[in-house]
Amino acid sequence: MSHSKVVIIGSGPAAHTAAIYLSRAELQPVLYEGMLANGTAAGGQLTTTTEIENFPGFPAGLGGAELMDNMRKQSERFGTEIITETISKLDLSERPFKLWTEWNDGPDDKPARTADAVIIATGANARRLNLPGEEKFWQNGISACAVCDGAVPIFRNKPLYVIGGGDSAAEEAMFLTKYGSHVTVLVRKDKLRASKVMADRLLAHKKCTVRFNSVATEVLGEDKPNGLMTGLRVKDIISGAEETVDANGLFYAVGHDPASALVKGKVDLDEDGYIVTVPGSSLTSLPGVFACGDVQDKRYRQAITSAGSGCMAALDAEKFIAESE
Ligand code: FAD
Ligand code: NDP
Repeated sequence: MSHSKVVIIGSGPAAHTAAIYLSRAELQPVLYEGMLANGTAAGGQLTTTTEIENFPGFPAGLGGAELMDNMRKQSERFGTEIITETISKLDLSERPFKLWTEWNDGPDDKPARTADAVIIATGANARRLNLPGEEKFWQNGISACAVCDGAVPIFRNKPLYVIGGGDSAAEEAMFLTKYGSHVTVLVRKDKLRASKVMADRLLAHKKCTVRFNSVATEVLGEDKPNGLMTGLRVKDIISGAEETVDANGLFYAVGHDPASALVKGKVDLDEDGYIVTVPGSSLTSLPGVFACGDVQDKRYRQAITSAGSGCMAALDAEKFIAESE
């Protein structure tokens, strides 16, 4: 069994930024990048998308997988040990903390590693609806992130739809009015869940229409390889009536699932399962355990904010280790 001063769990921008800072501080971090953890390749959510246009430093943009590959190389350059395994279990009841991987998880198995400090950077997954047509038109009209994908040319001056009734749906719909000809929000209930201020703004917006008691039932589009979405079947759940509407974009805002199962019951989570951190820091409710990236951020959920919080986690962990020595 090996011991490390600090272990990072995750492989997105938060994990790699933490790794770059900790390895440059000569703390020899070990980073478990996962083996298809939660169904996502090592590198995290950005490996599932194409062009990233809003990460500073790349004026021409670059591919999501390429950006993560660069971050991984930068972590390794300063000496981070990267292990392609998924952490399956943690014992945080005493220090040093104990970590098991999927390979050595079993009733009698010893932990794979112990650590003085652990950084949780396991990310989150946007919920999908599994509509007919969703697989075919995913990223060819359908997206789960308006801020990420809204500026793509296929949405310019076109009718766009958002599904959801929360703050994200309201915020994304209003953001999309910069690009689309009109934005319609489909809300399954007869009211919005969004905060009053956001709901009022959305309902008053000239380029937005909210359709209550409405759900999408199918995504329609071009019948060819890489064909684009062109329409949507929408059902009124009161009358049962269905119609086909023109739609060139569909944005899901039906919530995210933070990958916090590993630490459930061990550190404080909020009502939606996000790790609670002390505001302005990466400190969790348990000394020596730090959290960064989307697993602790339900508000911004961007590559750059994840990277920023990864830096905070590294500096917080470094201070913790120095003070415990
Ligand atoms: P994530 O990227 O969520 O990665 C965490 C990864 O850690 C997991 O995917 C998994 O591989 C690994 N992991 C999880 N559990 C374990 C475990 N137990 N053991 C080991 N490894 C584990 N943001 C932007 O700023 N610009 C964009 O253009 C943009 N486009 C996007 C497009 C799409 C389709 C999506 C889904 C998101 C997009 N985002 C974009 C958001 C951005 O991807 C996220 O905010 C960011 O990736 C979150 O980073 P993170 O470090 O929290 O972890
Ligand atoms: P929420 O969980 O608040 O809202 C999700 C919405 O999606 C709900 O309206 C829900 O409907 C709907 N929904 C869920 N599943 C389905 C489905 N299968 N079909 C149709 N609709 C569905 O998530 P958000 O991402 O909006 O917000 C998460 C948190 O982040 C909240 O605390 C929010 O306040 C916060 N936030 C704040 C912002 C701000 O202050 N500007 C911006 C963004 C987020 P129903 O209501 O019927 O359950």
